[in-house]
Amino acid sequence: MTLDVLIRGGRVVDGTGSPWVRADVGITGDRITAIGNLSGASATREIDATGLIVAPGFIDCHSHSDWSLLANRGADSTLMQGVTTEVVGNCGMSYAPVTHLNEARLAADVSRTSPGVQLAWHSFADYLETVRSGGIGANFAFQAGHAAIRSAVMGSGERPATPDEIAGMERHLAQALEEGAIGFSTGLEFVPGRAALRDELLAMAKVVARYDRIHTCHQRTRNEEFGASVDEIVGICEEAGTRLQISHNNKRRGAPDGAWEGTMEAQDSARGRGVDVACDTTSYIAGLGLMAAVLPPWLFDAGPAIAAERLADPTIRERVKGDLNRYWLMVARGEWDILWLGRTSNSMHLFGKSFVDIADTMRRQPIDAYLDILQAEGAGIADAGMFGEVKTHDHLRELVQHPLVAIEADAWTASADGPLAAMVNHPASFGWTARVLGDYVRERRWLRLEEAVRKFTAMPAAKFGLRDRGLLRPGLAADVTIFDAATITDRASFETPAVYPDGISHVFVNGVAAVTNGRLTSSRSGSVLTA
Ligand SMILES: [Zn+2]
Repeated sequence: MTLDVLIRGGRVVDGTGSPWVRADVGITGDRITAIGNLSGASATREIDATGLIVAPGFIDCHSHSDWSLLANRGADSTLMQGVTTEVVGNCGMSYAPVTHLNEARLAADVSRTSPGVQLAWHSFADYLETVRSGGIGANFAFQAGHAAIRSAVMGSGERPATPDEIAGMERHLAQALEEGAIGFSTGLEFVPGRAALRDELLAMAKVVARYDRIHTCHQRTRNEEFGASVDEIVGICEEAGTRLQISHNNKRRGAPDGAWEGTMEAQDSARGRGVDVACDTTSYIAGLGLMAAVLPPWLFDAGPAIAAERLADPTIRERVKGDLNRYWLMVARGEWDILWLGRTSNSMHLFGKSFVDIADTMRRQPIDAYLDILQAEGAGIADAGMFGEVKTHDHLRELVQHPLVAIEADAWTASADGPLAAMVNHPASFGWTARVLGDYVRERRWLRLEEAVRKFTAMPAAKFGLRDRGLLRPGLAADVTIFDAATITDRASFETPAVYPDGISHVFVNGVAAVTNGRLTSSRSGSVLTA
């Protein structure tokens, strides 16, 4: 037998969670073609994997890499972490569809998150063609975001949709699903998704069900009403018959005791009734958030630009300060030492600083510094980013150990070089897989290596319908990651987030070497995955 690539003598972790077995893995073209004792085979290229783990390419089922992919087609930080496939377009946010009503806003977003790239598409099909045309380093599966679809029909106003507008959204969603979107995401805690009422969400869920695709949901809240917001989306998807993935389903600071356990029991009992629901978690105790999501909806009734302007009015500002008890409660509670400024358009000189330091620098109270920064964002107010400590290690441990919870990054692809490196404000863009395999598996022993790998290979592949990935099996796509379980280490930190991990030596995407001996090859063998 002659193969293109033969990986000899590794410990094969096949993605199912089964204990590793010693085996050789053969690749021909873009497929895995043989697994077992291949001592009689030869290959154009051989890799000695003695002592190393050979696993399916990792899958990040909750990524925002669509923000930066067009400025990082090589997907450098994705591949250097062993990730070969990402599901993007999460939390209601996607860069298509585009109409005259949301074009200015999305064009500004695109040029901010993908430096040097101009928005030049309208339909989902045009968008995916733009992605494909220049080549990409990893595989990406795109979801259509509710915020994009809603603003394509309604513009920027934060209010419930009329029946005509809902019908318009249904048409846009159906078109996106026909043109290659693998699913539909909502961000019910953000502007403008939080204005959607049940009738609108049910109508969207029914379209998703008609195409048998997946709905991913960023819950309305994970504070006092955490349980109710999970019940809401489970109920909608149950009625519509839609497959559901609840995104980053951790409880936040401020959630009542037992709230998270209640949401997991609700998913279990829904599964007992036949609802295909599961969830995922990020792999750090600190998360990324959107600053404007703490602001009251009434501030946005005339759109984001006016909302920003209104923050200059002292009377309105005082009213806002008394009405911040939502989303990240650390803001309302004044826990400024665990909140840092993320990406903004107009305050990048304060990027990465804690709000305690920012308040000092600006000689303002922290809450006024926070609102000043938002005011300065103008029409882009809804996109201003922050990060903060949103969960404890004990909670993270129970999340990653729970059988219904997959593990994801909630970050975006970047590079250690070039303009994107300066925009990274969370180590998850560079280190999330190594954080799990090095820290949580090897050091803390929270879960078995094979179980951790399953949670970012076969488990999300099955859930998101990525049918020929996530397992090492003859006939499946040759996405393979080789790493050293004894040395894999996340080197990215909040202080220096743009650092690649140690211990991941080889990564293959569709049979082509993307990382060799720990170095990027600059091949662009990734593809856009469609349903
Ligand atoms: Zn989210």
